[in-house]
Amino acid sequence: MAVEDLKAKIRDVPDFPEPGIVFKDIMPLLADPGSFEEATDLIAAWAAPRKPDVILGAEARGFILGATVAYKLGCGFVAARRPGKLPWKTVSASYALEYGENSLELHADAIANGQRVLVHDDVLATGGTAKAICDLAEQLGGEIVGIAFVIELDFLDGRKQLEGHDVQSLIRY
Ligand code: AMP
Repeated sequence: MAVEDLKAKIRDVPDFPEPGIVFKDIMPLLADPGSFEEATDLIAAWAAPRKPDVILGAEARGFILGATVAYKLGCGFVAARRPGKLPWKTVSASYALEYGENSLELHADAIANGQRVLVHDDVLATGGTAKAICDLAEQLGGEIVGIAFVIELDFLDGRKQLEGHDVQSLIRY
């Protein structure tokens, strides 16, 4: 399956969640068995040589392929969650979004000192989310070995925020 076939499974939703934003909806890709498997395999193939110990997925859409990639590579999975969702002690970071503001938290013991961490989310937009997650993981002693997205919105220049990291996306706009 070619990347163009995966791209055909992304649904553009204009003016969601607010006017002027074109939301890139990965649900049709996830719902199609071949595309779901292919997206998992492509991200896993990129991640494998980086030898991650854990995949760190961003709430909520980063959990889905984050988990399948972790399973495929025999890694653990760690969740970056919205404030108040994690039951144990947390570390937290706030950042600006393409639309609005957000905060994310990690369990304070989610990443062991020196662990190799591969960060995953569905979309790289301005890069604020991924940057905040990388900073949290590093604060806990993790080493970021890569950041993998399904989609990258080139015109928002999110890579700039992630300078110094190894960044990959399957589909670019
Ligand atoms: P950012 O921090 O600006 O890179 O935004 C990335 C986060 O917001 C990801 O978790 C995405 O799921 C979500 N996001 C931002 N812009 C879009 C978009 N146009 N379509 C879908 N999701 C988006």
